[in-house]
Amino acid sequence: MKSVLLNDIGILKFQDIPEPIPDLGETLIRVTKCAICRTDAKMWAQGQRDLVLPRVLGHEICGVKEDTNERCVIWPGKTCGKCIHCVVGMENLCVDMEILGFNKDGGFAEKVCAPQSSLIMIPKTLEDHVACLAEPLACAINALEQSSTSAGDTVLIFGGGSVGLLMAMAAKSMGAFPSIVEINPEKLARSRAFREYLDIRTASSVTNQLFDVVINACPSSETFWPGISMLKAGGRFCLFSGFTGDEVFPVTCLNEIHYKQLRLVGAYGCKRDQMAKATLILNEFQEAARLLIEEEIHLEEIPSRLKSVLDGHTLKIIVNIKPE
Ligand SMILES: [Zn+2]
Ligand SMILES: [Zn+2]
Repeated sequence: MKSVLLNDIGILKFQDIPEPIPDLGETLIRVTKCAICRTDAKMWAQGQRDLVLPRVLGHEICGVKEDTNERCVIWPGKTCGKCIHCVVGMENLCVDMEILGFNKDGGFAEKVCAPQSSLIMIPKTLEDHVACLAEPLACAINALEQSSTSAGDTVLIFGGGSVGLLMAMAAKSMGAFPSIVEINPEKLARSRAFREYLDIRTASSVTNQLFDVVINACPSSETFWPGISMLKAGGRFCLFSGFTGDEVFPVTCLNEIHYKQLRLVGAYGCKRDQMAKATLILNEFQEAARLLIEEEIHLEEIPSRLKSVLDGHTLKIIVNIKPE
């Protein structure tokens, strides 16, 4: 079958590989569309903790079950089902996790194998290229749930890339009021249609307003101190994107957490039920979600696009693998 295989760091090739054979409990999926994530570009450029080579990348997958012809998206994890995290329903933290596109072959290929339990059937009216956004949207939902976001809450999101924008959409769907801080005017221009459609407020710098929830959807540790100081008493800061650098935070910053009785939470990946929720939100907000998709390309074009994805010069690119 046709695939795009990462043979080594920086060496990505369009090539024929054998069709995957399902393990026990797995199903073969014909991939219809797979979105490119910035993590794919990072793995190509510099590798990643969980990456095992050679590897078919791609973890934002929509496809058709080979046995029943049902359309589905794939929760990209394969878990042990037995560890303490799996048992209490925090399967995204499984100690023995395998991830499609990281240490198990992913969606930049005509077919992929995934555990039956990781398949989420999608609404009839949800288009495949929009359904691909379910995985990043589910990660955003996880951040909102970890920070106990509910209707009426004001939510400040640092970072106006595709995940920050999806997070704002998810916040809207919960009845919350999202605002985005994005310092890059080019990114703001690119997302204008989406933001206007959903009436999402933006600022190019921090404001004086106080918020119930602050989430970083960008890796800059410079968002932490302003983010903490912009929370109302009892507010929540969610560390969604890992920080880069090794900045030390002043004690006065940490004491704000004490005096204002703030909660500092983390969010990593997503759970199956959050992906199911994501497909429903995408179905409801399909018109808006389409505005995040800038381009559809073929498998063989992936290698030429990763540089611009890595540099943050795109919203979403969808790889059109096998239209139904
Ligand atoms: Zn991703
Ligand atoms: Zn487990």
